[in-house]
Amino acid sequence: MNELIPIKFPRNITLTIKREDLLHPHISGNKFRKLKYNILEAQQQNATQLLTFGGAYSNHIAATAAAGKKYGIKTIGVIRGEELKGKIDNNPTLRFAQSCGMEFHFVTRTAYRDKTSPEFINTFTTIFGDFYLVPEGGTNALAVKGCEEILTETDAEFTHIACAVGTGGTISGIINTAQLHQQVLGFPALKNAGLSADIAKFAQQDNWALIEDYHFGGYAKVNAELIGFINDFLDTTGIPLDPVYTGKMVFGVIDLINKNYFPDNAAILLIHTGGLQGISGMNKELCRKKLPQIKIQNT
Ligand SMILES: *Cc1c(COP(=O)(O)O)cnc(C)c1O
Repeated sequence: MNELIPIKFPRNITLTIKREDLLHPHISGNKFRKLKYNILEAQQQNATQLLTFGGAYSNHIAATAAAGKKYGIKTIGVIRGEELKGKIDNNPTLRFAQSCGMEFHFVTRTAYRDKTSPEFINTFTTIFGDFYLVPEGGTNALAVKGCEEILTETDAEFTHIACAVGTGGTISGIINTAQLHQQVLGFPALKNAGLSADIAKFAQQDNWALIEDYHFGGYAKVNAELIGFINDFLDTTGIPLDPVYTGKMVFGVIDLINKNYFPDNAAILLIHTGGLQGISGMNKELCRKKLPQIKIQNT
């Protein structure tokens, strides 16, 4: 569903947002797209369980747990940070995933760095038996295939498409279905020098670029300016943004409009990839850091 943003921009520029966050209450936004064909494949392989990786507030962990519950596949989450083991009740994301039936396996931050090594993954077969593996962030060829369903034919009217980037799977799917006259702009939510190469592995067109100036210091890093922006945007438009991905992307697009990056009459489509489940966890961190809170919708 596309929604025109009720803000007046100079030079006849318009912003429209695709509300992928409204696809499903818990399997939100791009994570629904990324899991769809993976779950079908797991079912085809008669897999009874699905194993994946994620951090303490991971949207991917929450979405995988909810999808597992919905489609009747047991889920196992390998979670970064052994210290979280006794603290599930204090963590809204893990509490939610557990309520969906996800089983956790906590590993140290050092061990977690091995998450793509076959030896490390094999240790989980010893512990849990056979499973269908979904990589961290959920990006693989089937995830990209799912994200190729984000854009529809009527979206050809837009000149630019803007999307937040983590591992690059989502933007790859968008690039593959974008029209050649459209420019796809990715806003990385973290510092990762290898991101362009990762996207190039899946992307079949080259009408895209990464804009790396809006990660706010790194993954899940925020400041008072970003929080103020997210709260103002909710007040003005009624649309909630998350602090890790979509908040930074929309901040970046509006900043670039103000800096005359876009041509006259640009019709920009923002992809709302979801991630709103992460707000309550982030608010706990913000409270500790004595930063302002992110407003939750309807409060
Ligand atoms: C995971 C996530 C992304 C990043 O998706 P990638 O396919 O890893 O690039 C963007 N936005 C939100 C809200 C996410 O949860």
